[in-house]
Amino acid sequence: MLTDQELLRYSRQILLQPVDIDGQLRLKQSRALIVGLGGLGAPVALYLAAAGVGELHLADFDTVDLTNLQRQIIHDTDSVGQTKVDSAMGRLRAINPEVTLVAHRAALDADSLAAAVNAVDLVLDCSDNFSTREAVNAACVAAGKPLVSGAAIRLEGQLSVFDPRRADSPCYHCLYGHGSDTELTCSEAGVVGPLVGVVGSLQALEALKLLAGFGEPLVGRLLLIDALTTRFRELRVKRDPGCSVCGAKHG
Ligand SMILES: [Zn+2]
Repeated sequence: MLTDQELLRYSRQILLQPVDIDGQLRLKQSRALIVGLGGLGAPVALYLAAAGVGELHLADFDTVDLTNLQRQIIHDTDSVGQTKVDSAMGRLRAINPEVTLVAHRAALDADSLAAAVNAVDLVLDCSDNFSTREAVNAACVAAGKPLVSGAAIRLEGQLSVFDPRRADSPCYHCLYGHGSDTELTCSEAGVVGPLVGVVGSLQALEALKLLAGFGEPLVGRLLLIDALTTRFRELRVKRDPGCSVCGAKHG
């Protein structure tokens, strides 16, 4: 059940017919893993905590650096030198003490990543490198957990949702398995803050839809955002039957 305080806190989204009290209860009973508490993970964590997702599992092995603060808005000047997980937890507790926070402060290897993915209902990939993205995708396919994947570099953003519970859904590897030029990280190539804010906010939105059970998720579609011209484009993406990660799973 929801308390009077919760009904009040979440009243503006409960007012929405597709959410309603049932959707809010589903959020309260949901657990989400956020991989990376940088530019994408910041708005993801802030919005999911504010919206009342019951458990947020936070994974990042890094500490806050002065160069992060231009875009990683969950951290502030006083948190420089702190672990990103502890810095984020302080801010999230201040926003919404109702949310349970689970910390992963060490780098996740294959086993601990599999366990972390198995412990939640949905995963948000907010990491900044290809090898982490591939590992997170493989763990999500193996566990049958939906993955909300976002990326932003320079002035370009990308977003898609991969849902192994659906036979028609591609996985991250179907799309990017042949390698891409996204191997560059923001620290090497640069990025503007509001762009990671846009991509991260859309990731949070997709997660809320999937967890509360409303709307049409961005499955089988890749959203491309060009910050320079403010243009959004959408590409259809299909599952690769020969994909080495999800191909065998669906036969
Ligand atoms: Zn695949």
